[in-house]
Amino acid sequence: MPVRLAVGLGITAVMFAIAGRRFFWLYQLISSGQPAVPSRFKDVPKRIKAELVEVGGQKKLLQWTVPGVAHAFTFWGFTILFLTIIEAFGCLFQRDFHIPIIGHLAVVGFLEDFFAVAVIVSLLVFVGIRVKHSPKRENRRSRFFGSHTGAAWLVLLMIFGVIASLLVYRAAQVNTGNFPYGWWAFASHGLANVLKPLGTGVNSVIETVALLANIAIITGFLVFVSYSKHLHIFLAPINVATSRRPRALGALASTPDMSMEDVGEDDEVVFGAGRIEDFSWKQLLDMATCTECGRCQSQCPAWNTGKPLSPKLLIMDLRDNLFSSADRVMAKNRAAGVEVENLVPSVIDPDVLWSCTTCGACVEQCPVDIEHIDTIIDMRRYEVLMESNFPTEAGLMLRNVENQGDPWGLGGAKRTDWIEALDFEVPVITGTIPDDIEYLYWVGCAGALDERARKGAQATARMLHRAGVTFGILGPRESCTGDPVRRLGNEYLYQEQARMNIETLESAGVKKVIATCPHCFNTLSNEYPSLGGNFEVIHHSQLLDHLVSAGRLTPGGGYAGTVTYHDPCYLGRHNRVFDEPRSVIDAIPGATQIEMRRCREKGFCCGAGGARMWLEEKIGKRVNMERTEEAIGTGADVVSTACPYCMIMLDDAVRANAKEDDVRVLDLSQLLEESMGEPVAVGATSAATSGAIVAEDGADEASAPGDTTGG
Ligand code: SF4
Ligand code: SF4
Repeated sequence: MPVRLAVGLGITAVMFAIAGRRFFWLYQLISSGQPAVPSRFKDVPKRIKAELVEVGGQKKLLQWTVPGVAHAFTFWGFTILFLTIIEAFGCLFQRDFHIPIIGHLAVVGFLEDFFAVAVIVSLLVFVGIRVKHSPKRENRRSRFFGSHTGAAWLVLLMIFGVIASLLVYRAAQVNTGNFPYGWWAFASHGLANVLKPLGTGVNSVIETVALLANIAIITGFLVFVSYSKHLHIFLAPINVATSRRPRALGALASTPDMSMEDVGEDDEVVFGAGRIEDFSWKQLLDMATCTECGRCQSQCPAWNTGKPLSPKLLIMDLRDNLFSSADRVMAKNRAAGVEVENLVPSVIDPDVLWSCTTCGACVEQCPVDIEHIDTIIDMRRYEVLMESNFPTEAGLMLRNVENQGDPWGLGGAKRTDWIEALDFEVPVITGTIPDDIEYLYWVGCAGALDERARKGAQATARMLHRAGVTFGILGPRESCTGDPVRRLGNEYLYQEQARMNIETLESAGVKKVIATCPHCFNTLSNEYPSLGGNFEVIHHSQLLDHLVSAGRLTPGGGYAGTVTYHDPCYLGRHNRVFDEPRSVIDAIPGATQIEMRRCREKGFCCGAGGARMWLEEKIGKRVNMERTEEAIGTGADVVSTACPYCMIMLDDAVRANAKEDDVRVLDLSQLLEESMGEPVAVGATSAATSGAIVAEDGADEASAPGDTTGG
């Protein structure tokens, strides 16, 4: 006993000292980051709920059934098996130790053995998954591509070692009479039968050796975890508890003060993140928490179409840089003028940075709530605002927004052209919105100016008119909400646009807004409040659903066929509007819905978000082609969506596939209108040629969305 006690405590003391030192170092490193916005310590009840649901209930992990169940059993296994750790240390002092009060209960013995076996079964599942999806076999298609697979195998081996040594020492305890549980601890008693013929003396030795091995592996695991990607075992609960609630989607996390009013002469002003120390402590915690599971990578439209961007590899590269720059970061010596290379391009390749569509699939999938988009946008902000580095073709879009108020540079005068095709009057609000007009219809640049998107705006207007909804438009007073320039990183121009639009809306007395573009919808409803603009914003798909449910619009038999609905990222994932568009389609008597494999929360981007609409797509397969092929593959007659950007991208790809005579791309409002009246002819939505915008007076056509080099 004294030897057993001395060895056991000795191992524990050494391992705890090493791990403790490492965890203190990690604490110092992560807390060296900038303050996190918004506050990560408000809304405590919501954070507790997230902890219970996401960590305790393993909610996000269970979205992938097989690995999710295996992980849940491992997580719960180790939670329950914490009792066995207490018992193991107790047995160092007293061979027949039991936990007071519960230490002889049959149910406790059963649960310990059940979860020990469950963990071993889960390990076999993990082995199967890792073999099946080995990067050697699947290359980029493997979600483990680029992960530290060697360390992962070692962790699986160590977990097996913990469970195996646990069961062996418990089995030996049965044979030496030191085991506190009866036959309900079925696995221990079963293994005891195998060891019994060895006799009590040998079992006594086995008991001591296996017990010490168990303690050594557990404490060694603690040390290994503190130096490896398996840090998530300890950091994930903290990361989830301090993550943006309800999720890091919708608005961007920060709206920096661009006014420079409080900046002193000696202050060094940094917008965005150019070095690792420019990130907030939460972003540094994200980096340290990544489990390298690759769920984000498997869903990323950029990665899935052959681009160099993987959200997992981006976070891992930043983490490597964080650890290699730890001394400098902890010394906080940016101000001391230490020369350091910028993250882009030394750590993050520009092609990685600019490939992101900000679709949110990575954020949605990440089981530990890493906030990829904010990190990417912070680096874009630094590149644009501090270095004036961005893809050259984006310069035109920025200039157009700045000078003309829309990305195409067509100017405000064109913003009422789309209403000329309507057979009723649409009031253009020049002063204050009259009392008898309920909504301001925010048409958006695409809806007002792009030939194909206009058809969606016109159909929406006709549906509203038919339902008796009163609305007006701002016409030339409407200007780009700033979404594309913000996602590109030009926060300064975004805030100028936002302030101007807020002033216009407030001076017009606008309270309620309808938006057809999910990007406008997101910006107006989620981002303008941080600059003082508070409006009640509804997306047209939500309003149409309401009008249909209320009987103010009655879908008819004008459309009969199959429909697949494409979820726009900024409507679906970013704003959780999944059901309303589907319920409008369901209400059309002749329409049969077919879901694409990647739909709803797992919807695949069209390729236009994150200002990608305005950037060339030279690497890999075009994202819109990938998505449209999936849509066409359903065999549906109509691909319906509720976003002008998506409509343009999908329509381009349908035509590039020469499928325009077979498949129509229709906005939800067009489909609804067709069901209520005259069918829209095949190809009508494709009537416009590629680059449908008619550029005038030297307005450059190269950035028109139909341009095959664009979105
Ligand atoms: S937001 Fe979308 S495109 Fe960007 S990294 Fe995440 S999954 Fe990829
Ligand atoms: S960022 Fe999240 S989803 Fe992606 S590999 Fe890391 S833990 Fe997994």
